[in-house]
Amino acid sequence: MLKKRKITRVVKIGDVPIGGGNEIVVQSMVKCPTENVQEVLRQLNEAKQAGAKVMRLAVPDKTAAFALKDIIPQTPLPLVADIHFDYRLALMAIDAGIHALRINPGNILDSPEGNISRVEKLEQVIKAAKAKGIPIRIGVNSGSLHPKYLEKYGYPTYEALVESAIDEVKILENMGFFDIKISVKSSNVEDMISAYMLLSEKVDYPLHLGVTESGSGLSGYVKSSIGIGTLLYNGIGDTIRVSLTSSVSEEIKVGYEILKALGYYKRGVELISCPTCGRIEVNLFDLVEKVKKEVENIEENITVAVMGCVVNGPGEARKADIAVVGGKGKGIIYRKGKMVKVAKEHEIIDAFKEVLYQVLSEKNTVLQQK
Ligand code: SF4
Repeated sequence: MLKKRKITRVVKIGDVPIGGGNEIVVQSMVKCPTENVQEVLRQLNEAKQAGAKVMRLAVPDKTAAFALKDIIPQTPLPLVADIHFDYRLALMAIDAGIHALRINPGNILDSPEGNISRVEKLEQVIKAAKAKGIPIRIGVNSGSLHPKYLEKYGYPTYEALVESAIDEVKILENMGFFDIKISVKSSNVEDMISAYMLLSEKVDYPLHLGVTESGSGLSGYVKSSIGIGTLLYNGIGDTIRVSLTSSVSEEIKVGYEILKALGYYKRGVELISCPTCGRIEVNLFDLVEKVKKEVENIEENITVAVMGCVVNGPGEARKADIAVVGGKGKGIIYRKGKMVKVAKEHEIIDAFKEVLYQVLSEKNTVLQQK
């Protein structure tokens, strides 16, 4: 059984609350140099359209930090500046009006000249964030763990990730800063799950979940679904990012699919289809693709089942709002388990569309009457 969600503190990125049992926020990250302002804005709009609530963008140098002044006034979504190595970029981002920061304290180090320590650098960032009321995500990664923990554990173990994150949290807390969100990502799914589980026992700050560098296509979907999905199933996690070698909209789409599979997101069509077998009597692959196309932009939360034959078809049809069940050269359309139409194979999709529009228009009427 899905575990009860852990109620964490709430931080706000722009006007989006994260934690405290609020809706799990799906986010992604801009995938081009930040100084390419027009492309950044295009991707931000694409992300908004796909349903992202927050976006992150990299600020690797001063050119990127300067570009924030042009991006922030036009962004359709609250933005998180992702900073590594140089604390001064965080100060520039705050000055430009960024909505939140992600810093990786593991790679903000004492200056080699010895004139400023890493704690002093963090203190400056925290002071500026506090003045502007913006949250900070402490983003510890297995790939960029502070050398101290690598020395202690010899390898970026999940305990090392958690210890590093907690130490950084303490620095912030000692300065009276509690507007914190934490991530302890790893590209190893098992380490990632263990790290977040351990961390969740130790803190009540909102957690940002993700499997780093999970890859592209199938392996990326699987790793992210297992990593993020297992934690969400256990009631852990307040915001998610699916990291894929793919577009921002793809990342967001997969993020929502994970939430949908666990019942955390109930908008859009849930499509059930059978894997097909030797009993198949219609071209189900083609039919599923056509049905998918028809329902992809529908926001109404309905279930549609597309089944290849009468063995499991009628059973699934009983649970679905609409079901298409293949027969010999024909398709039978059900509404809530009740047969409403029989169509020849080449007319199945039209018959399905007719029933779909009927269901949607009735649902809209009900919604309007409420
Ligand atoms: S619904 Fe029919 S065709 Fe599809 S997998 Fe089950 S038995 Fe096979």
